[in-house]
Amino acid sequence: MNYPTNRFQQLQTPFYYYDLQLLRRTLSEVKAHLQPNFHVHYAVKACATPAVLAEICRAGLGCDCVSGGEIQACLDAGFPADRIVYAGVGKSDREINLALEAGIQCFNVESLPELDIIDELAQAKGTVARIAFRINPNVGAHTHANITTGLAENKFGIDMQDMLPAIRHAQSLRGVELVGLHFHIGSQILEMNDFQALCGRINDLQDTLEAEDIRLQSINVGGGLGVDYEQPDEHPVPNFRDYFATYARGLELRPGQEVHFELGRAIVAQCGSLITRVLYVKSNAIKRFAIVDAGMTDLIRPALYGALHRIVNLSHPLAPEEVYDVVGPICESSDVFAKDYTLPALQRGDLVALQTAGAYGQIMASSYNCRPLPPAVTSEE
Ligand SMILES: *Cc1c(COP(=O)(O)O)cnc(C)c1O
Repeated sequence: MNYPTNRFQQLQTPFYYYDLQLLRRTLSEVKAHLQPNFHVHYAVKACATPAVLAEICRAGLGCDCVSGGEIQACLDAGFPADRIVYAGVGKSDREINLALEAGIQCFNVESLPELDIIDELAQAKGTVARIAFRINPNVGAHTHANITTGLAENKFGIDMQDMLPAIRHAQSLRGVELVGLHFHIGSQILEMNDFQALCGRINDLQDTLEAEDIRLQSINVGGGLGVDYEQPDEHPVPNFRDYFATYARGLELRPGQEVHFELGRAIVAQCGSLITRVLYVKSNAIKRFAIVDAGMTDLIRPALYGALHRIVNLSHPLAPEEVYDVVGPICESSDVFAKDYTLPALQRGDLVALQTAGAYGQIMASSYNCRPLPPAVTSEE
């Protein structure tokens, strides 16, 4: 990734930098590998920065929301309501009403009590909500335990053995129309075999439904495709070819069925970096610390998941190398971006980039320690 370091000199750090050219390249790769019956909804929770949403909207993708606030952000960004799908285990009445009034494409329903409330609220408005059941396929993913979602122990969705009674119940309600099934097994998944396993599970469930004479318009397989955090410059665009080919080969679709995808990280992670400045370098008997002006309040993934973002010295890329613990200013011992990390020697004032921070970065920022939220800067301002 190329950084406009001279421009950065003028700016107050920390901030998020988004390379919109890379985002556009990523979006055109996504579109290049779609089958005619494949539809992609961008998972807004990865990054809802207006300039990023606008670019994704312009590319013609739909969006996948998990709250009323996200639905509003998408409507504000110009997404047509009929391309919005809405998941979440705890949808409030206010959020459901907002989605009904907007006329979204589909509610991904995660429990029977939720189904009954959507039915009731839709009938009160004299409308019919299109719904899909989120099924917990009990498929593990080879990823961090905090970001698996498709195991029986996870809170998401409806168990497979409850699928048929749930469908029968939905068919008896006047305020909802069942259009499909929804799945999402986790995030940062790099093994195509995990997606293949999901396809197998979906095929079995479709056989069960066929035996009961139940037909569905759509299958939503969720998101979860991972990115290369270690070598972002070598792999700035994820392997969408293999990803979509896995589903094209693996799913046994019925005639006319659509497949919906909900990709978040894979679309926005690589185009974003957190830009920070070195405040101090200090050493003790065993460590050399580089203290930067960004912390876990700006990028929480290292503290939350033990994630490692590649760190680049933008100011002195050719300086001799040294080993650092790169840490933030927050009063928490977990406010560490990297331990024993080798970098061209850092000095006070150097600009540093934490790469692959476009997804689950800025959007997760907090004001802990009364810190201001990091702003966004794009390649095109
Ligand atoms: C978070 C989420 C996604 C997106 O996950 P990524 O790993 O960012 O692709 C998709 N669908 C649902 C329901 C989610 O909660």
